[in-house]
Amino acid sequence: MTPSRSSLPTLLELQGLDSRLLTTVNRARSLQSSESVAALLRRRAQAIAASRDLDAAKAEAETAVVAAETKVAEIQSRIERDEKRLNAGGTSKDLLGIQHQIESLTAQRAVAEEEQLAAMDNAEEVAADRERKLPLLRAADAEARAAVAERDAELAALKTEHERLTGERARMAAAFPDAGLLARYDEHRTARGGGRIAVARYEDGTCGACGTRLSPADAAALEATPESAIPQCPECAAMLLL
Ligand SMILES: [Zn+2]
Repeated sequence: MTPSRSSLPTLLELQGLDSRLLTTVNRARSLQSSESVAALLRRRAQAIAASRDLDAAKAEAETAVVAAETKVAEIQSRIERDEKRLNAGGTSKDLLGIQHQIESLTAQRAVAEEEQLAAMDNAEEVAADRERKLPLLRAADAEARAAVAERDAELAALKTEHERLTGERARMAAAFPDAGLLARYDEHRTARGGGRIAVARYEDGTCGACGTRLSPADAAALEATPESAIPQCPECAAMLLL
């Protein structure tokens, strides 16, 4: 049975479907391996880690303030206790001892109050630093989330389109009248890693598959292809619709 040239226009439609299927697959692959989305996700992970660090620094600074306050209060209560003892009276030696103790505690309180002020200053700085940085970190998080959502929406649309085209392709292949020609087409299309154009138009002396402009001799030979055979590009071997 000789291949039927009359089926070439239908085969060309099938090629159109296969090309669109390939485009959806390639687009999905490129989206899945998108470096820009991956970079945004890395930035998001860094932002999450940085914001945890900021939270921890804030908590640590606040704890230091409380500890400094507690220390001042403890010294203060010891001073007050000694002052009561002093007021209660006693031997002059005892009173002198208590007086010294109060002086020593008062000096300690001054140091502790300095430490308390420093802790409060530090806590304020840490909190302000956190307030400055958090919006940037939230923005990095939001940007990555938006990019992922956009990519996922496009992938879902591509999946739907791929399913639709696959169904259409199956119906068209099932109805194709020339099984031998279809097999030849598929073999050529999927050869050498696939994705090849197996059938195209021949227009203005040019192969629509590989874009080669045929020499006058090749063009004449092509146009002289017997009716019983399918014209083929001498460069890429695509079947050509004259
Ligand atoms: Zn060609």
